[in-house]
Amino acid sequence: MIVLGIESTAHTFGVSIVDGKNKKVLSNVMESYTTKTGGMIPSKVGDHHVEVFDKVIAQSLKKARVKLKEVDLISFSQGPGIGHSLRIGTFCAKTLSLLLKKPLIGVNHCIAHLEIGKMMTPAKDPVLLYASGANTQVIAYEGGKYRVFGETLDMGIGNFLDAFGRVLGIGFPAGPKIEEMAKKGKNFVELPYVVKGMDVSFGGLLTNLKQKLKKGYKKKDLAFSIQETIFAMLTEVSERAIAHTGKSELLLGGGVVCNKRLQEMAETMCKERGAKCFILPNEFNVDNAAMIAFLGLEMYKSGMRTKIKDASIRPYERTDSVDVKWRE
Ligand code: AMP
Ligand code: MG
Repeated sequence: MIVLGIESTAHTFGVSIVDGKNKKVLSNVMESYTTKTGGMIPSKVGDHHVEVFDKVIAQSLKKARVKLKEVDLISFSQGPGIGHSLRIGTFCAKTLSLLLKKPLIGVNHCIAHLEIGKMMTPAKDPVLLYASGANTQVIAYEGGKYRVFGETLDMGIGNFLDAFGRVLGIGFPAGPKIEEMAKKGKNFVELPYVVKGMDVSFGGLLTNLKQKLKKGYKKKDLAFSIQETIFAMLTEVSERAIAHTGKSELLLGGGVVCNKRLQEMAETMCKERGAKCFILPNEFNVDNAAMIAFLGLEMYKSGMRTKIKDASIRPYERTDSVDVKWRE
């Protein structure tokens, strides 16, 4: 079975072709919105996706050596995400499904990050540390649903890094640039470490950093200290989720987990408590359509379908509101 997956929840428009029988990614093409200075403006991101969608679909098919008429299933990210972005992917998916007369399946983006990890690594029932632009959640499967054990109380960790990047004038996305700056920083500056129960928060930290910049702290030292602080917060909550659920695997997902320092902290924590840490190649950590195709396939195999009339966007869909019928 050939699955065509479409990802468009935020800054990335991606199309992937997956060979369902052999569980093989034949292509995973993506185009992401970037800026040199400002942040991500939702309407501009929508315009970006409109400009690239046909090219990305064509490139993905070409790379996979698959013809459009050979596609058996269309899977798309239905939510959560930015309305302007979601609308473009949903529109493409519905159109393809109608044109090709092939089934359609809408999937939850956050859960797709977890499912692709299970598909590509030996992990069986991991706790997922999902750290991306808009989302920061610690997720694990319990009683028929993916439960959120901890999450951000305000902005996503990537949005926090990108917001600080806007203050620094380094463009979007800022995370990779802050990682580079952090390598040069040596002096740790104490910053607000905000873990409340199982949740984290970054809003106060952003305000504090703006004040510290004005006071003349070096950018490289702040970048270094930001990473040490916020990644420790995520590692602490992930460890507690592992302890609470009694699971023994941690999977990392989301664009921020491309960060080597976060990977290092997660690996150290897992090693110290005898758990296994699974890290995917970066192309499957960032928003990508291969994970959308894989999850769509699993849902389809369990009998799930999305009717055209139900294929509207779900910008606010919660991870724990999805019935995980495909795992039963
Ligand atoms: P996603 O939404 O999952 O595609 O992730 C995008 C987010 O990941 C953006 O906020 C980026 O700034 C962030 N990001 C990407 N690479 C890194 C990195 N190496 N370190 C920290 N954040 C990163
Ligand atoms: Mg994501």
